[in-house]
Amino acid sequence: MMRPLEDVRSHVLSSVPRLGSEEIDYRDGLWRVLAEPVTAPEDVPPFHNSAMDGFAVLGDDVREAGAVLAILEDVPAGFVASGEVGPGEAIRIMTGAPMPPGADTVVRVEDTTVEDDTVTVAVVVGQGLHVRPAGGDVHSGQTVFQAGDRLSPMHIGVLATIGAVTPVVSKRPKVGFMSTGDELQPAATRDLAPGQIRDSNRPMLAAILAEVGVEMVDYGTVPDDADALRATLGQAAVETDVIVTTGGVSMGDYDVTKLVLREDTGVEFLSVAMKPGKPFAFGSLGGTPFFGLPGNPVSVTVSFEQFVRPALLAMQGASRLFRPQVQGVAGERFETDPAKTVFVRVQLSEEDGALAARSTGSQASNVLSGAAAADAFAVVPRGVADVEPGKPVTLELFRALETRGLEGV
Ligand code: AMP
Ligand code: MG
Repeated sequence: MMRPLEDVRSHVLSSVPRLGSEEIDYRDGLWRVLAEPVTAPEDVPPFHNSAMDGFAVLGDDVREAGAVLAILEDVPAGFVASGEVGPGEAIRIMTGAPMPPGADTVVRVEDTTVEDDTVTVAVVVGQGLHVRPAGGDVHSGQTVFQAGDRLSPMHIGVLATIGAVTPVVSKRPKVGFMSTGDELQPAATRDLAPGQIRDSNRPMLAAILAEVGVEMVDYGTVPDDADALRATLGQAAVETDVIVTTGGVSMGDYDVTKLVLREDTGVEFLSVAMKPGKPFAFGSLGGTPFFGLPGNPVSVTVSFEQFVRPALLAMQGASRLFRPQVQGVAGERFETDPAKTVFVRVQLSEEDGALAARSTGSQASNVLSGAAAADAFAVVPRGVADVEPGKPVTLELFRALETRGLEGV
């Protein structure tokens, strides 16, 4: 019996344990999940300052074009003015320098001409213009980030800004991964013997796990040998928090993962109503969550995205477990399967103000080049037979936002 993807995923998410927390150096925080909120101890910016290179003046003096003002001194960023600005006066100021007492407005240097110690303001400048107020970004006492937020590069910058250099984050799961299959050879193999292929799943898993930001242990390529697999799984169960394997979970006589774990009451071999990625094993090996992904590389990516990635984030208490989904339109006809949730690998382009999705070619689960070319999955739900061109389609963005560091923000 096929089980709906959503049911299997909820089962997975409710089964995985929640990890403890630790204090870290904020510079090691990329993609970590906050276990405690972060509060700003002071205003950001800490003082009123200039948003422009120009002149700090009184708004009253520049209500009309042509004001001529006496230049008192210069204030670069990092310094403070020695005096204050009075009527008919100006202080030359650089971006980020504190506003001198008295001044409430900044005139851009582009709008002025300077002669000796006087500046002529060519334009009318509204009072308060080009001044960045203290606390305009973050105010003192504000909760800047919540527990469950995942730290992007911008978050790291904000932590630095407010001096929160030892955030408390969830521990990272230590993920043990391995590929299985007698046909698999190292990627650097020059001449493959008949029947052999290069192992693409394992380096791909390493990369995808690095992107999630977990700790990893590579258990290599395990042959289709029950004893070898049993030994490696036993070792991984002791050494890691999560085990991910690829291959050997479907119906074949040589599907060794299934042979080895079939008797293990802690692991279920499931048939998920999704395409690709129908065969999937999940459970616990002596208390360690176990994910048995299929062998075909595209199935690996889809199953990882749907089950493993959200589980790894849930273990860290992340408030956002799933990739962003947006609405687009089918740029062409998608033939799908009404019995399954189908993930069509698509490229996106903007057409008539909508995001149009077009298949990257063959949707066979071994065609990894098509997945590499994709921006997103078009997610076609169960019950839908085909999607006609121009019809709305849900797009799961697995690439565009992650690389820009906005994922999880
Ligand atoms: P399996 O589920 O083990 O029967 O594998 C299904 C298909 O995926 C077979 O064509 C395998 O050769 C292929 N496959 C399994 N593991 C890998 C891997 N690590 N890299 C590339 N292809 C694989
Ligand atoms: Mg195999």
